[in-house]
Amino acid sequence: MYGQALGQVVNFDKSAIFYSKNTTDQRKNEVMEELGNIKEARNGTYLGLPMAIGRSKTQGDRWIAGSENGFVSDTKPVECKLEWVNELIEEGKWKTELIHKWFSTKDAELIKAIPTSMGRRKDKLVWSHSKSGIYTVKTGYAVARQQEVKPGSKRGHDAETSWEIRKHSVWKKLWHMKVKAKLKQFMWKCLQNCLPVNELLSKRLGRGEGRCGCCEEDMETIEHLFFFCENAVEGWKLAPVRWDGLHEKQQNFWIWWEKVTQTLSMNQGQDRVSLTINILWQIWKARNKKIFEQANQDPFKTVRKAQDEWLEFEQEREPEQKVSVGRMNKDISTNRERPRKEEIKLYTDAAISAKRVRTGQGIIARNWKG
Ligand SMILES: [Zn+2]
Repeated sequence: MYGQALGQVVNFDKSAIFYSKNTTDQRKNEVMEELGNIKEARNGTYLGLPMAIGRSKTQGDRWIAGSENGFVSDTKPVECKLEWVNELIEEGKWKTELIHKWFSTKDAELIKAIPTSMGRRKDKLVWSHSKSGIYTVKTGYAVARQQEVKPGSKRGHDAETSWEIRKHSVWKKLWHMKVKAKLKQFMWKCLQNCLPVNELLSKRLGRGEGRCGCCEEDMETIEHLFFFCENAVEGWKLAPVRWDGLHEKQQNFWIWWEKVTQTLSMNQGQDRVSLTINILWQIWKARNKKIFEQANQDPFKTVRKAQDEWLEFEQEREPEQKVSVGRMNKDISTNRERPRKEEIKLYTDAAISAKRVRTGQGIIARNWKG
């Protein structure tokens, strides 16, 4: 019914069913068969969210608003017969004496601060992670993500906030990049997923099939264009700046870029990242040449152009100031641990010099004798 109404498909592998206590086993089996062996939900979690929601018990449920995790902080003394929260309320007011008898001072204060229902309305479930108290997929997802990252952390909107902070940081770094304004705009489009690659044109405007115009092998997503298309792969091999350590992030351009910009503070970080932007830009331009002018561009030329444009900009920007040149440490034995016997260590470094118009990569192989 749900599927027909909304056009969505229920994933039965991730679904479970609740039975009320008085459901007979026979009835459960009938339902289960009908629904293709859907499993029975007991107390568990789905996407990190608790599935079972009972009435508010004094112990075992999260009900103390404002406390660290919502639970009662002390274990219940054996002689305490309290079972339900409503046993603590009389005529719409908290029974303060009783509360102080059985709860810690801290819990007691928090409990007394929970407003009791004036109109004697029935209790209802509220979702504490949204302002309205109504569950939304967005806040649910944020809470689930949060629990995935930091189990036991307290507030759902922290996850949303940290995402906001990450986005903010990416934009801020972009606007401060030392590249031409047109390149910032280009990067902004890439990160906002509005660079008009074929997949996007096909999906949003129904134009074409979305395949890559260069290799015709795959859908032209932004990731395909920049990382997986043969021309891009070749280009990166020749480029003076490489991000081999970020291969597994290439499935998501945004995540990949976030990692790239985390190196900005490193030695020559600015240069590497600006050059990277130039390379992405030239890959895009080469792609347009192919599509609109049917002209194939050698990846070597693509990288060369990126390098030239970057150098030109660097030299215009700071005519006197020399772009730093990476230096190897003077005495490698002081900074690098000597390899163990029968072992050879490889050290690599790359340097870019705008003044000298050259780039270099270095590899040192060192055995245990030094
Ligand atoms: Zn391709």
